[in-house]
Amino acid sequence: MYRYLAGLGLLSLIVACGTPRVVTIAEPAVAEVRQLDTLVITAPPIEEDEKVYALPVYNASFTQTNDLLHTRLNLSFDWEKEQVMGKATLDLKPYFYPTDLLVLDAKGFTFKNISLGGTALKYSYDDNRQVVIKLPRTYTRDEKYTVVIDYVATPRADGGSNAITSDKGLFFINPRGEDPGKPQQIWTQGETENNSRWFPTIDKPNERCTEEIYLTVADKYVTLSNGVLVSSTKNPDGTRTDYWKMDQPHAPYLFMLTVGEFAVVNDAPWNGKPVSYYVEPAFEKDAKAIFPHTPEMLTFFSDVLGVPYPWAKFSQVVVRDYVSGAMENTTAVIFGEFMQHTERELIDELMNDKIVAHEMFHHWFGDYVTCESWANLTLNEGFANYSEYLWLEHQYGRDEADAHLLEEWDGYLTSAQEGIHPLIDYGYADKENMFDAHSYNKGGAVLHMLRKIIGDEAFFAGLQHYLELHAYSAVEVDELRMAFEDVTGQDLNWFFDQWYLQEGHPSLSLSYDYDAATQEAIVLVKQTQDGRKMSPIYQLPLPIDVYLPGQSEPTRHQVLLLEREQTFRLPASQEPALVNVDAERSILAEWSDAKSADQLAYQFIHAPLFLDRFQALATLAGMGDDQLTDLLLPGLQDPYHGIRALALENISATDATPELMDVVAGLAENDPHSEVRATALSMLASLGYPGAQALATKALQAESYAVVAAGLGALVELDPAAAQQAANQLQEETNSEIVATIGGIYATSNEVQYLPYFSQHLSHVDGYAAFDFYESFSVLLLVAEPAALLQGAQELQAIGTDMGQSPWRRLSAVRTLSQVKGALLEKGAEATATQIADMITAIKAAETNPQLQGIYQQF
Ligand SMILES: [Zn+2]
Repeated sequence: MYRYLAGLGLLSLIVACGTPRVVTIAEPAVAEVRQLDTLVITAPPIEEDEKVYALPVYNASFTQTNDLLHTRLNLSFDWEKEQVMGKATLDLKPYFYPTDLLVLDAKGFTFKNISLGGTALKYSYDDNRQVVIKLPRTYTRDEKYTVVIDYVATPRADGGSNAITSDKGLFFINPRGEDPGKPQQIWTQGETENNSRWFPTIDKPNERCTEEIYLTVADKYVTLSNGVLVSSTKNPDGTRTDYWKMDQPHAPYLFMLTVGEFAVVNDAPWNGKPVSYYVEPAFEKDAKAIFPHTPEMLTFFSDVLGVPYPWAKFSQVVVRDYVSGAMENTTAVIFGEFMQHTERELIDELMNDKIVAHEMFHHWFGDYVTCESWANLTLNEGFANYSEYLWLEHQYGRDEADAHLLEEWDGYLTSAQEGIHPLIDYGYADKENMFDAHSYNKGGAVLHMLRKIIGDEAFFAGLQHYLELHAYSAVEVDELRMAFEDVTGQDLNWFFDQWYLQEGHPSLSLSYDYDAATQEAIVLVKQTQDGRKMSPIYQLPLPIDVYLPGQSEPTRHQVLLLEREQTFRLPASQEPALVNVDAERSILAEWSDAKSADQLAYQFIHAPLFLDRFQALATLAGMGDDQLTDLLLPGLQDPYHGIRALALENISATDATPELMDVVAGLAENDPHSEVRATALSMLASLGYPGAQALATKALQAESYAVVAAGLGALVELDPAAAQQAANQLQEETNSEIVATIGGIYATSNEVQYLPYFSQHLSHVDGYAAFDFYESFSVLLLVAEPAALLQGAQELQAIGTDMGQSPWRRLSAVRTLSQVKGALLEKGAEATATQIADMITAIKAAETNPQLQGIYQQF
């Protein structure tokens, strides 16, 4: 599962009107604490003298009474009623102890018949969620039995989470064809335990079975499911039955189906296994760019893990109105619409690479070996998260991977401010809460640390051993530890205890000295994390590089941090130019580093890693130190585009010598990375470079939309009339970045004649660009006549209340209405402001996404 909406967490910071309200109580005892993003609701504290003794919350793995061996489904669909007509044939046996009862998850079903060997069975179905079936006799673990269930399922949501916004399980999209702008589709989302809304099963991650699905659909539709398509048979009534077969066992939450009018693009088979992409027909020519490097990744991950891709095919499909980012259904990954862009829009865009890698890696970690309970979710998600690093490192180099790692750290450390829990969290309040920056970001970062500690060879050998030992089974974290112990011969309890089982992370403070008498560099490391909330002492192997002036290579020292405050004395024949702690830049920690500006400048030039150069440049920029000026030129010549862009952003007017600006102009024209070209162009315009206008005009013809948008933005500063003209010429472009830039130009014109341009693009501009575009819209609305203002506001309301619109647009709509309301109140237009307030209320009432509901509390 890829959490596309994780980005909204950042948005909540952007749109926040004030700091989050957090209510804490000194001794929570058993008081209920529910976290609603920006609000904590607490039940009244119990009496102080009332002692409560209770076992700690422990979410055990599911107790297996019966074992599901095989599932055969015959399914057809009633689009009008949004129902699934099904016949399920389930092969089972008792897991160990004899039993005469079978309990199946089946949420919202109507049963027509449940039978065994042609004889109807008695059952009860009191809670509408689980059916309890009385078997005709007691069965032992050596006896298989087959139950046949005829049913109608009516998938309905009764909840959702930040990561997966609806638990409906199976979704009909535009089922009655009422929306002409939207294709008709059916797709499923099983994780966590929602596939039991469309077929009866034991809906737990520690269950596993083989499956066959017969899907009967109108002949115009394409279907996709797990495993291989065995046959496709046309029926006399104009329907067609597709038979999908999956003969390797996997967990019920990984079952999937998709029905829709897709273009199917077949890539070359990988090791004889089909590789295919399902996209909307308009994107057929872009399919390989939408799912970039798929065959290369199958090869890379197979090679690095020593376990070839274990399944029969690999398909990827983009669906409408998806409820999360993407889902690793075995052999058939579903992605949200945000992946579906043209090849031109995807130039230099690595998001699709990362998500394809993430879902593919789950086919080893998640699908082949599966977390035995949601408490162990990081055994799925930590690995999938880390695959993004592995792929970036392999394909684009370590700098790109380390830049990604920095974002992952930031994501975890930001979320840790709101609360921490053990990575393996048996005490969770709700299994859906496990899909957070702990299971994902911290899980990936911990694997990276382990790799750096035991070495690449041991790390990948350990993963191979773990996969081979636990193939087709459910795992808990001890099994991962023991696999690495088997391979390395080391006891790794210390590492797994502190990173997987305890909560928190170290905060490390570094200071430096030199002892001339003993010729030793001195490093003082203090652990400053709150020892009441997390471990007061982390055990950390620390590589330290000592750089002496005039020597090209540093000397590396391996030390072990074992104390709250520990001093390391390292031989150094003269005072070092730099002492670089955590020289591999792998430790997940909050750092406080007392390096001087001189040391940072030295580090930028001499230390090898992206994170060395990034720390140096960003810290010097933050200090406002003059040394930064000398680093700008090497920064602009850095091999990694992220450092070049950072150097560009830090050029001030006083730094902008003609020589330096000529280098910037060279980047604007020739840098291999489009973001660098775009940033350079913007800098040239804002710093008044003489040739900027010619470069900006030329940029309008660029292939990359980022560069075109930067050219347009530069023209706004340099020649507003030319910018206006260029905007008019680009009016037909639908790329979000271009649309938002044009919106900005039209907003500054203050001319209401451009309102139709906004109306035309409101419902397709997406991502961060939606924020800017909607805000520009509000500028023109506020200078328009009242009738036009209200009409525009109604357009925003329509978007905000339409759950088929992207969360970015829904949030942009309500945020913009809120801004308009504020401006109207300032002007004293209270009656209109009240109308807008009613629209905001309507949007809040319609919203179903829990994360947006949390953010909306501020409006
Ligand atoms: Zn995932």
